[in-house]
Amino acid sequence: MIISKELKLTDAQLAEVEAIVAEFDCRIQVIVGAHRCVYAILGDEQHELMFNRLIGLPYVDRVDRIESAYKLMDLRGELASHPIEINGCRIKKDILVIAGPCTVDPQNPNALYETAEAVKEAGAQVLRGGVWKPRTVPYSYQGDTAALELILEARDRTGLPLNIEVMDGWQLDMALEAKVEILQIGTRNALNYSLLKEIGQKTQNTETLVLLKRGRHMAPIDEFIAAAEYVAAGGNPNVMLCPRGTLPGLDDYRNHPDESIIPLLKRKTWAPVIYDPSHAVGRGEFVPHSSKAAIAYGADGLNIEAHIDPATGIGDDPKQAITPEKLGRLIKDVEVISSLGRS
Ligand code: PEP
Ligand code: MN
Repeated sequence: MIISKELKLTDAQLAEVEAIVAEFDCRIQVIVGAHRCVYAILGDEQHELMFNRLIGLPYVDRVDRIESAYKLMDLRGELASHPIEINGCRIKKDILVIAGPCTVDPQNPNALYETAEAVKEAGAQVLRGGVWKPRTVPYSYQGDTAALELILEARDRTGLPLNIEVMDGWQLDMALEAKVEILQIGTRNALNYSLLKEIGQKTQNTETLVLLKRGRHMAPIDEFIAAAEYVAAGGNPNVMLCPRGTLPGLDDYRNHPDESIIPLLKRKTWAPVIYDPSHAVGRGEFVPHSSKAAIAYGADGLNIEAHIDPATGIGDDPKQAITPEKLGRLIKDVEVISSLGRS
């Protein structure tokens, strides 16, 4: 990673740097941070001569060699102080709450609009809602592009930014066109490297945030962070990690809740961790327990399925959504737990 003496390199300096690394089959990815640009060297960067030539340039302050599979997301890297903010929430300083239905029901727009108003009232800063759904069984409801219009209307009515899952390049383009604020990469696509790269490239140098779920069979922490690195290496370091339970499930829980991974992630990466209790436990009654545990473990926020009337929702909502009233109480509780952690 190249750190320049000034806040950024000039075009001529960048061209010179690019020409040097190209001689060693590497390339430069410019990462625009909030305060300064950093220049990641992508490729096999173990060339002593390349380093020496870069360090010798008069406008280069230093060249960091982070021996890590994820040098951009690494806690020791230059981006560790990279601030991420959405709807007034300074992530890692304030608890971020993303809430809304699992799945937007195109047949019942009012349920979405009422849920959106109610989760805002409860204290959520972002509205979630599945437009296109990854379903285990191909005959289940797969989502509907018509749902995108509804959730955009909910954003207009409430002013809440949106979190929507995209599963392929076509959905990504539609979400980007609609200026969706947080792109969710679901657990099934957590290791879809083509999609991760495409999202990074298409959102480079923008404020779009990416919420990367933990793969449900994904045990190693390094693999999870390296998946986030794909998005960052594409050009967008605004990646938040979202553990959501892994398989096999624990007795009656839908998955094996994995809140305890949070401190282990935080030892290695600066990426904010937004925990998803809803898919971890899979039952509304246990969502508060899992949420509070996650915050106690150091989560920076929560991604919670909530619905004005869970029983009439679709997708996961009847079994795992909580009501906005319950969400409001939960948000107050997690604020207390979080302040204990900070004291
Ligand atoms: C979801 O958030 O509704 C979802 C499908 O999540 P996951 O990919 O974690 O199952
Ligand atoms: Mn769901």
